[in-house]
Amino acid sequence: MEFDAIIIGGGFAGLAAGVALADAGKRVCLLEQKPYLGGRARSFQDPATNSIVDNGQHLFMGCYHSTLHFLKTIGTLERVKFQAKLRVPFLDRDGRLTHLDCPTLPSPWHLFLGVLRSGSFTLKQKLEVLRLGKSLRNGRTTNGPANVENVTEWLTRRGQSEGLQRNFWDLLCIAAMNEDPRAASATLFERVLRLALLSSPEDSRLGIARVGLSECYTAAAAAFIESHGGRVQTGRGVNQLIVAKGACQGVDLGDETMEGVAVISAVPWHQLATLLPGDLLRDEPFFAVGLALRAAPIISINLWFDAPVTDLEFAGLRGTTIQWLFNRTRILGDKGHHVSLVLSGAREHVSRSKEELLAISLRELGEMLPAVRKANLVHSLVIKERFATFSPSPEADALRPTARTPVRGFYLAGDWTATGLPATIEGAVQSGYTAAKEFLNLSQ
Ligand SMILES: Cc1cc2nc3c(=O)[nH]c(=O)nc-3n(C[C@H](O)[C@H](O)[C@H](O)COP(=O)(O)OP(=O)(O)OC[C@H]3O[C@@H](n4cnc5c(N)ncnc54)[C@H](O)[C@@H]3O)c2cc1C
Repeated sequence: MEFDAIIIGGGFAGLAAGVALADAGKRVCLLEQKPYLGGRARSFQDPATNSIVDNGQHLFMGCYHSTLHFLKTIGTLERVKFQAKLRVPFLDRDGRLTHLDCPTLPSPWHLFLGVLRSGSFTLKQKLEVLRLGKSLRNGRTTNGPANVENVTEWLTRRGQSEGLQRNFWDLLCIAAMNEDPRAASATLFERVLRLALLSSPEDSRLGIARVGLSECYTAAAAAFIESHGGRVQTGRGVNQLIVAKGACQGVDLGDETMEGVAVISAVPWHQLATLLPGDLLRDEPFFAVGLALRAAPIISINLWFDAPVTDLEFAGLRGTTIQWLFNRTRILGDKGHHVSLVLSGAREHVSRSKEELLAISLRELGEMLPAVRKANLVHSLVIKERFATFSPSPEADALRPTARTPVRGFYLAGDWTATGLPATIEGAVQSGYTAAKEFLNLSQ
């Protein structure tokens, strides 16, 4: 066999695993079933406007250390622009604009001072945030991995008022975890807050890709793998793993088999079952548990106007159905007065028609931005990602499998595996790195 490992799936996880192995001198063959790489983090050209559209606007964070390492390795780090310090504009439904602007002070003072100076909170709310920040600094406030508390219960127990939850914590929870705070794990949310807000001012910064999401990493990662003796093939789906005597022997592609080689699966949890031979799925609980994870959808609404509607680059929206606004004209230089709106944790909205979602967005945007009422809508595109992420419920942590599996020579990667993070780019890249490390350790 001309390759050391086969990787199934060309999203962030599979490409990160491939780059890590290529960097370690291994020749990998990465197989992606779709005609393009990128999986759930990709971009394409909209034929009506020629604009580059992401399948959903993605934010990076300074605490995405593995992702930054990955982008640096493939030479595209400068395509993501990071803020000098954490600065989040909030737009209220009545059009009031406030900021959370955190100075460059050592953590957690950057956050504490940012909250104290912000017009986004009342004095009482500021004191509530400071109290929670202080108790987080002093140690864990949830009850360990077996904790079944959800985010709302935890915030309420920590003295966070209903208004503060609705206008601040809920927005952060839905953005970071893609789940309603009443259904999201408090343990995971606490971990996210520590990593993102309380470790260092650099880690708290937000980053936005200045190019389409695919251009950020897919071609450069594929070129890296190929320049190290590997191969990346799109439009090449794997039918099934070949397993005999508890060991992985390779993969069946339908028209050919590739044997005598280790395999890393980097496919989402809901697509793994089709890869596994029936007896493995039936007899091995290790694989069965992960299949119980539930999906959480994200809806993106792209609007093109005939005139500018805002100078803001992005904003968190408060008191509205839509949650975030991204000004693609400012971010990418798109000439089409293009804004992209995000509705995460969108389970109760995903069955709405595109026309209905469009009407809600235009009404809410018009209330917040007077320029929207004067401009004409030229074009729109609603993207529903029904399987955007797994739902990070309190029960989900126990369902997430490790990279090493009971089948020799078969490893798992993907944002849904046991990374300790929500389904994010960072979780996906970390999972790819972990699977590559396990493979390297066991193949020495
Ligand atoms: C709309 C949206 C917005 C998001 N926003 C953010 C954000 O702001 N910040 C953030 O950090 N994260 C965000 N995420 C999450 C992030 O996109 C994912 O966590 C990450 O992309 C998952 O990468 P992955 O490689 O694990 O899986 P995927 O990207 O799903 O890759 C898996 C690949 O496997 C392929 N595959 C499946 N079966 C087979 C087979 N049999 N043979 C070959 N190939 C196969 C699939 O086609 C796919 O390309 C968002 C996700 C969505 C959908």
